[in-house]
Amino acid sequence: MNAPGSAAALRAEKSAVDNPGLVAWEMIRTLVGFDTTSRESNLALIDWVRGYLESYGAQCTLTFDDDRRKANLFATLPASDGNTTSGGIVLSGHTDVVPVDGQPWDTNPFEATLIGDRVVGRGVTDMKSFSATGLAMVPEFVRRGLARPLHFALSYDEEIGCIGVRRLIEDIVARGVTPLGCIVGEPTGMELVVAHKGKKSWRCRVRGHEAHSSLTPLGVNAVQIACEIVTYLTNVARAFRDQGEFDHAYDVPYTTVHTGVIRGGTALNIVPRDCQFDFEIRHLPFDDPDELFAEVEAYARRFLPEMHNVDADAYIAFDLLSASPGFDTHGESDIAALGSSCSETADHAKVSFGTEAGLFHEAAISSIICGPGHIAQAHQPNEWVAVEQLKRCEAFMKRLVDRVALA
Ligand SMILES: [Zn+2]
Repeated sequence: MNAPGSAAALRAEKSAVDNPGLVAWEMIRTLVGFDTTSRESNLALIDWVRGYLESYGAQCTLTFDDDRRKANLFATLPASDGNTTSGGIVLSGHTDVVPVDGQPWDTNPFEATLIGDRVVGRGVTDMKSFSATGLAMVPEFVRRGLARPLHFALSYDEEIGCIGVRRLIEDIVARGVTPLGCIVGEPTGMELVVAHKGKKSWRCRVRGHEAHSSLTPLGVNAVQIACEIVTYLTNVARAFRDQGEFDHAYDVPYTTVHTGVIRGGTALNIVPRDCQFDFEIRHLPFDDPDELFAEVEAYARRFLPEMHNVDADAYIAFDLLSASPGFDTHGESDIAALGSSCSETADHAKVSFGTEAGLFHEAAISSIICGPGHIAQAHQPNEWVAVEQLKRCEAFMKRLVDRVALA
């Protein structure tokens, strides 16, 4: 109990007054209140959620990062017949949020604040509100009794390349957990998303040979060679844009290739020894990024004989920076049908941004994405979500209770 007049009691009172009519309001405030910026530990949030779920009889498994500073939580509410492994529904959300450093916030980012018809705070859209809404329904799921297991998959380090959830998925596959499907609550405006692009990114490092710029034949110009490879990538991107293949269900209906960072050279009068650049391929599920990368590598190899004529130690190296698979859950799948019925729409959309859904899909757990808010509001200062979106999310969850409950 909070002593009357204490700071905690005042906060609770204010929160009750502010509640815009949401079952999940307190839960949203609680989750947003943990600073789970990706560089920080998320254990305080995980421990709190674990305690909450265990109090409702959930079985919890944690998988940790190498330093044990961060954890994934996989929690299962068993079906009434005791089944904990087969045919369940996974509600998936990442616990980490992007940094607020240098962003002009008008409120405390780690306090969900109601302003008019919006809730403002870091993670209210991306993506604590979905997880909070699912968690807030747990008493109702338990009261009604479950026909199939309900799982929560709360991950760390999604924002830095879907790192954490890989260990969670490995663990559930190893333990023989075979869900019917997974609902990833990334912001889609509560639209049902059944596919997204995959992404792979690389760093290319070109090592040439330094020389005085009046003696260019004695050097190997790393900047110029890097630029030739970048130009090749640009031409590949144009070919996809002009010749496809296309899937017009996406906002950008073809595979894109993009160079985002380049660094090289030290002074104009020195033939530069080093240049490196980072590029990415965001591909439609049916385009193979590795095939494309093999072509880029083959193109780069052409420069090696000329480079080695000057310096045998010159090289061009590629480092894989990240890889997240795309997915396409066809509209007929069980999880898409369940999603349609819970969101009361037959429409399916496809998006260009990546999520953990691709990794679940890769592990043969078919997935959909459906969550409150819009990706355009994610990662911004004064990140917000409309109360109307949160109400739609609650309605979705209530229908999910009806579909999964025994009575
Ligand atoms: Zn997210």
